[in-house]
Formats: sequence, structure tokens, C-alpha cells
Amino acid sequence: MRILLLGGTSDARQLATLLVEAGHDVISSLAGRTREPLLPAGRVRIGGFGGVAGLAAFLRDERIDVLIDATHPFAATITSNAALACGDVRGHGPVSRSAGVPRMVLRRPGWIASPGDEWHRVASLDAAAGLIPELGHRVFLTTGRQGIAAFAGLDGCWFLARSVEPPDGIVPRRLSVILDRGPFTVDGERRLMTDHRIGVLVTKDSGGADAKLVAARELGLPVVMVDRPVLPPGPVVSTPAEAIALLAEN
Ligand code: NAP
Repeated sequence: MRILLLGGTSDARQLATLLVEAGHDVISSLAGRTREPLLPAGRVRIGGFGGVAGLAAFLRDERIDVLIDATHPFAATITSNAALACGDVRGHGPVSRSAGVPRMVLRRPGWIASPGDEWHRVASLDAAAGLIPELGHRVFLTTGRQGIAAFAGLDGCWFLARSVEPPDGIVPRRLSVILDRGPFTVDGERRLMTDHRIGVLVTKDSGGADAKLVAARELGLPVVMVDRPVLPPGPVVSTPAEAIALLAEN
């Protein structure tokens, strides 16, 4: 099958490897946000499609049999665009202009609080920023560089932000940035938070490796957890192996 794999996650890279090994013709698509992305197996294209219409045209022109959306849980625009372009969700514009391509979403499960956790679930980064001053004044931000701007108005707090690329928008006045890409260890996370006298951790509910959450639990730190955007209706799997199994059924 010819598969368009919307990527930008480690799960997408793992799935690309499995799909190529299984003999599929895979085109992985990356947004182009990262200067030196880790490249998946198979063919790779980089950059936006030009909205729903552009993605639908790509699906038709490349004669794609299946689209697999393995983007990050917070990449809500491309996920919505994919649902509309494939044509299994009614949205703006005539449905007849969509490509009529089967679609599935690969999303790793979100995190679940354990005994001893003090988590504050919020619906958005702005809501997280509103809650911070009540919880702590030395803040560890792990929301990605695009999420840092939401905290720019909090002059009373000091921030340690960790991201793969440097922030490029507005940022808090008192900010220190660490450029790093995981995986991270619990020991390393505990040391980082202790060394910087962190009082509160802010994270999106991305799921996956949870070293920072374990370290926060051990240190008794509150965590502000930003909830995921809602997915459009349609089939969802949680692991690359499940995606392969669902593909084999159809
Ligand atoms: P987004 O807000 O959902 O998408 C914005 C626009 O970027 C889309 O409309 C699309 O442009 C383009 N785009 C996004 N993902 C694409 C892809 N895989 N291939 C081609 N074009 C793509 O996305 P985002 O939150 O900025 O995330 C961008 C990428 O980074 C995603 O691939 C995602 O998996 C990855 N990522 C995101 C996060 C996060 O926290 N959001 C974290 C880690 C990795 P057009 O409308 O022109 O097609």
C-alpha cells in the first residue's frame, strides 16, 4: 500500500520502520519546524500542504491508499485537516472535494496520576499560566518552544524552559533555556529540578516517557498538566504495532 504517514513523533518514526519492513511504500510528512529532524525510514517530504485543500490534492496526486496521522497529540490543526481532507469528517467546504482516503490516528495514551501526585489539570496553556502564581514561583516549563509565549506576562516568576529548538516568540522576562531532546532519566530530572530549586512543573499531557513526572512526585512538586485537544471521530490506535494490526485487517 502507498501510505502517507503524518509524523514528527518518535512513534511515527517507529511505525515508518515497521511499514517499510512490511513492504509498504511510505511517505512520511514532517512540518519542518525542527532544523535537524530525525529522519524516518522510507520517503520523506517536509513542509505544510497548504491547508485541507492542499492535503486533499496531495492525497489524490500521490494516489495515497491510507493516511496514518501519527502527529503529536497537541498538533490539533494538522489532525483536523487530515480528517477533513480524507473526507470522513464533515467540515467547511463541500465534502466532495475531499479525497475519500481511509485514515487512522496513532496516539500514545495520555498520562494517569499515581498516588502521591499533585496534578492540576487545565484545558489550555493560558489556563496553566493563570494557575502558576498560586503554585510556585520557580517554574520548569516543558511545553515546547511554541508553548513558552503563554507565560510571558508572569513577571513575578522565574522560568526554566526546556525545548529542542530555541524559543522564537515572546518569552517571560526571567527565563533560562535548556536546549535538549529526550530521553531523560528520573535521576537527571530530579537533579535538574533540585539544582534549579523548581517549585512547579508545567507539561502538556503528551504521554510516553514520564521521568519528569516521577521526579516531580518524588520531590513532592505540584504539576500543571495541560489536557489534550479532542480528536475528530475515527479509528485510533495507541502503538505502532496496533497500527500495523489494524492496517492488516483492512
Ligand atoms: P499544527 O499546529 O497542528 O499544524 C499547523 C500547520 O503545520 C498545519 O496546518 C500544516 O500546515 C503544518 N503541519 C503540521 N504537521 C505537519 C506534518 N506532519 N506534515 C506537514 N505539515 C504539517 O502542528 P504543530 O503543533 O505546529 O506541530 C508541527 C509538527 O511538530 C507536527 O508534525 C507534530 O507532530 C510535531 N510536534 C508537535 C508538538 C506539539 O507540542 N505541538 C510536539 C512535538 C512534535 P498546512 O496547513 O500548510 O498543511
